[in-house]
Amino acid sequence: MSNLSYIKNLTKLGPEEIQVIVQKIHDLAKDGEYVIMEFCGTHTREISRYGIRSILPKNLELKSGPGCPVCVTADEDIDYLIGIAEKYDLGVITFGDLVNVPGSNGSLNHLRAKGKEVKVVYSPLESIRIALQNPQKNYVMVGIGFETTVPSLAYTIKKIVELGVENLFYLSLHKLTPPAMKALLDAGEIKLDGIIGPGHVSTIVGIKRWQEYLKNYKIPFVIMGFEPEDVLYGIYFLMKKIKNGEYGVFSTYTRSVSSEGNVFAQNLVDEVFDVSDSVWRGLGVIPKSGLELKPKYSHLDARKKFALDEPVKVRKTACRCGEVLRGVLKPYECPLFAKVCTPTNPKGPCMVSSEGTCAAYYLYENS
Ligand code: SF4
Repeated sequence: MSNLSYIKNLTKLGPEEIQVIVQKIHDLAKDGEYVIMEFCGTHTREISRYGIRSILPKNLELKSGPGCPVCVTADEDIDYLIGIAEKYDLGVITFGDLVNVPGSNGSLNHLRAKGKEVKVVYSPLESIRIALQNPQKNYVMVGIGFETTVPSLAYTIKKIVELGVENLFYLSLHKLTPPAMKALLDAGEIKLDGIIGPGHVSTIVGIKRWQEYLKNYKIPFVIMGFEPEDVLYGIYFLMKKIKNGEYGVFSTYTRSVSSEGNVFAQNLVDEVFDVSDSVWRGLGVIPKSGLELKPKYSHLDARKKFALDEPVKVRKTACRCGEVLRGVLKPYECPLFAKVCTPTNPKGPCMVSSEGTCAAYYLYENS
């Protein structure tokens, strides 16, 4: 098999075809040094889990980016959440990984150990049931996640209003990914030859959104799926673009990503949220990279309802997650990696989340 352009279904490739793809990547990379970044934490995990790095040429480096929503949540936001939960005796409702992320004064798990109510949910709609069952208590639902997760939370917010739930508030920690990618490129801290674009996010935002943000950058950006075949074929495709000097936004995840994206989900999000500036761990404040509730829903906004006596003062720690998220530090270059910091004793969010770079390296590449 010499021509790979006819491949229609990447999930049906056999071992022989995979070998051809890997060989072609080696051929394309043979005369230089190349650095590509996978933006998305799911790609990071799958690349480590399937040992993809080990079969790529040594002169083709994969760097991991900031595409893990729990990892990029800033310390000040975690400290604020814990602060208001303690001060106002709020029940906290959140998705799983966040409970273990250490802030300056411990994690949500520590809060739970002190007897406060911290509930982990799999669907944000569960927050409504919890609040309705305990009408005497106020709750805060933590809105965390990229564009993929936001539509289900937008739907939940509409339901909170529709059902007249009065004791459930919302803390939006959402992040938008194209502005972060742009901020990383603008910072110029790392030299990249190409970018692996996130598949899930792109299913929602579509190819067009990335084109708007990346139109002034002479770098190929290839949206890929998450199966190992997707990633290998996508890297081959990306390497071809790099070698041909082609730039722009491309997709090899054609079974899921369209030019427009999921317009229904986009409209749902636009109905409930306005775009706002947001603070990212390791990247600082990125303009227009977050979401806040529209005025119509602002009575649910935890930030407007619950104030702390003093502004949060973040305590500096030895965790270097911020540098890991910017791709300037490999997890094993952090002195705490695998010695003090492990998934059962995480010192930073990059070791907590299943999509965190440090966790991926620890679980699959720490030999
Ligand atoms: S290994 Fe742990 S302490 Fe070091 S950067 Fe990663 S999460 Fe932070």
